[in-house]
Amino acid sequence: MGTCNYCNTSGRTISNTIGYCADCIRDHFDVVWPQIKKVHDQSIPYSLLAFYPQFYLNDLPTTAKSHALRCREVALDAGLANVNIGNIHLLSKDYS
Ligand SMILES: [Zn+2]
Repeated sequence: MGTCNYCNTSGRTISNTIGYCADCIRDHFDVVWPQIKKVHDQSIPYSLLAFYPQFYLNDLPTTAKSHALRCREVALDAGLANVNIGNIHLLSKDYS
C-alpha cells in the first residue's frame, strides 16, 4: 500500500515508487510531474545494444565503441541514471 506525497491518501493502487495517486497526477500534473520524471529517469534501466550485421542489413557496420560511449554520455546528460551498454564484445573500433 502506498501513500500519495501530495494529498496524503493511502491505497493499494498508489505506488510507493512514484508516490502520487492517480487523482493528483491528473489534477496536479504540473506539480507532481518533475518528481515522477526524476523517479522514472533514475529507476528505469536503459540498455544500449551494439548492432552486429548478420542476416539483414549486412551492409552496415558493427556499432563502434566510441559511438556507444557517446550515446551513453548523451543519455546520462539527459538525466537517465541507470544506463548501460550491453553486448560490449560486439563493439568495433571507430567507423572507417
Ligand atoms: Zn494524491
